[in-house]
Amino acid sequence: MTPPRTLRVDRIACTGRGLCSELLPELIDLDEWGYPILKDRTVPDRLRAHTRRAVAACPRLALHVDDGLGRRAQRARGLTVRVSGRPRGRATTGMGGRR
Ligand code: SF4
Repeated sequence: MTPPRTLRVDRIACTGRGLCSELLPELIDLDEWGYPILKDRTVPDRLRAHTRRAVAACPRLALHVDDGLGRRAQRARGLTVRVSGRPRGRATTGMGGRR
């Protein structure tokens, strides 16, 4: 049995334009300021394609779907990409020079 897929919103990244609610009204409502409210975090199989489309369309990359696996298992399956905080190398001053 596969673990259930769950929907998650990064409330820091979300700007509250509501595109996700238009693409996935079965699972997402909007509050009075236009921020998403999840009606149900569990994604039913019949809505998987719509959920993927809503996640891909989020302009702030604030909508996520978790497959119920741990991070290590996701990495092993190539489902996540590790993102480091900043590129390696020397820090620059931002004015064309290096320190
Ligand atoms: S589409 Fe993304 S940024 Fe827009 S309201 Fe939904 S989660 Fe927030």
